[in-house]
Amino acid sequence: MDIVLATHNKHKITEISEMMGRKVLSASDVGIDEIEENGSTFAENAMIKAKAVWKPGRLAIADDSGLCVNALGGAPGIYSARYAGEPTDDQKNNEKLLAALENETDRSAYYICSIACILPSGKSFVTEAKTFGVMLREYRGNGGFGYDPLFLTDDLGKTFAELTLADKNSISHRGRAFRLLMDKLNNDPEIKSELV
Ligand code: IMP
Repeated sequence: MDIVLATHNKHKITEISEMMGRKVLSASDVGIDEIEENGSTFAENAMIKAKAVWKPGRLAIADDSGLCVNALGGAPGIYSARYAGEPTDDQKNNEKLLAALENETDRSAYYICSIACILPSGKSFVTEAKTFGVMLREYRGNGGFGYDPLFLTDDLGKTFAELTLADKNSISHRGRAFRLLMDKLNNDPEIKSELV
C-alpha cells in the first residue's frame, strides 16, 4: 500500500517517513504539481490536498497550518504563507504582523495544524492541534522558519526559533497533530484493519 503526503517539501517527507517508519511518497512522486488551496478553513484545505493525491487502495495524508492572532480576528490564518503577498516572504510577513500589532496589548496567538487522512477505502478523517503563545515586539532566536522568532510559546517560555527541532516538534501544532494521526492509524481497530 502506497502512502502519499500531499506536499512537494522534501523536509516534510523525511519527517513523516521517520514518524511512520516507512517510505512516504510526495505529490511529485505521484505526478501531481500545484494543488489549489481554495478552502475557507485549515481542515478544508488539508482535505483538498489529500483528495488531490488519493486513489483507491492508497493512503493519502495532507497537512495545512498557520498562525492565528486573536487581536487580528484570527489573521493571518489560512493566508499565513502569503500574508504580505506572493511569493512567500517570511521577513515581510513578520514586518507586516509587527506593524499590525503595534498598538495592541492583547498579543495572544496560536499556531494550528490540520491533517487530513484518506484511507485506502476512501473513508477519511481530520486531526487538528494548536500551540498557544504570544507575539513578541522583537525577534528572538535563529531557528525555525516563518513567524517563529516572534512566537513565544506558553509551554516552554521560549520562541519557536529558540528551540531545537526536537523540542519544537514535542510541543508544536504540527508535531501534536501528527501524533494524533499516528495514534489513530496505529490504534483504531477499524482503521488498522484497512492498513495491512
Ligand atoms: P504550511 O501549511 O505548513 O505550508 O504553512 C503555511 C504557513 O503558515 C507557513 O508558510 C508559515 O508562514 C506559517 N507556519 C505554519 N507552521 C509554522 C511554524 O511551525 N512556524 C512558523 N510558521 C509556520
